[in-house]
Amino acid sequence: MADQASPVSNAAPRARDGEPLRLMAVHAHPDDESSKGAATMARYAAEGVEVLVVTCTGGERGDILNPSFGEAPESPEAMAALRRAEMAAAAASLGVEQEWLGFVDSGLPQGDPLPPLPPECFALVPLEEASAPLVELMRTFRPHVVTTYDPSGGYPHPDHIKCHQISAEAFAAAGDPERYRRDGGADAWTPLKMYYNHDFSMQRIRTVHEACLAAEIESPFGAWVERREAQEIPEREVTTRIDVVGHFAARDGALRAHATQIDPDGFFFAVPRDLEAEIWPWEEYELAESRVGDVVPVDGYERDLFAGIRGDER
Ligand SMILES: [Zn+2]
Repeated sequence: MADQASPVSNAAPRARDGEPLRLMAVHAHPDDESSKGAATMARYAAEGVEVLVVTCTGGERGDILNPSFGEAPESPEAMAALRRAEMAAAAASLGVEQEWLGFVDSGLPQGDPLPPLPPECFALVPLEEASAPLVELMRTFRPHVVTTYDPSGGYPHPDHIKCHQISAEAFAAAGDPERYRRDGGADAWTPLKMYYNHDFSMQRIRTVHEACLAAEIESPFGAWVERREAQEIPEREVTTRIDVVGHFAARDGALRAHATQIDPDGFFFAVPRDLEAEIWPWEEYELAESRVGDVVPVDGYERDLFAGIRGDER
């Protein structure tokens, strides 16, 4: 990015403190950034915001989820190497930077009773030890806004729950110079807002499902609607909708880059993009923490993750 640094920084939108706006998105595995909030990141990156994806684990225990992919790599190390290459291609498609925290994927335990988690996996690392590298990254990258998952993880993968926990801990602690002190560590930095990704709100699922039925397209959400209604999981509040209609292509390129995980003919590509642009041109968030005041809705929702932070705010 060095050769682009000066034109980008001259035009970059700035915060009230004069700093270029910065967004940090914390995710559990490589590919999560492409299925949760990806087009939002592409939009802000295109606007000149500095965007950093932080990936907690290497995705070593992920299965091959794309039936057209072919043979699985022979070892966890080979899988990790493949997923690093996929991640680099996804970041390039979104126009963002990316860093690894270096923890080991816990895998999704399945069965009844659930098997124990593998030793030394991310979910078993004590909170303070697991949060320390993220605190340090917040102090070096200095984000104004952080995105992560809600306390349930969004779905019950132990790495997603842990991702929430370390994000909340780092958001609380990064600005306190007495906490997570380390020789040679960066100065404290206080991020201003933290959001939870809500890419599959019930309202979105229902809206898209009904639009597919009306257009006589096979809906990817049929079973999902029934399952969610049966579970009676309380819906979390959506406070914020980001219009991302111009950035579907960047998101789709990032999804396709994760070829071990994403079927190019599967779920994420089941809804035609022109239909999606018409009925659901947003990605959704919940403002979880703010140090710059509450949401000011425009047409019912906040429309900018940097609302209350921008130097040129209207
Ligand atoms: Zn994941």
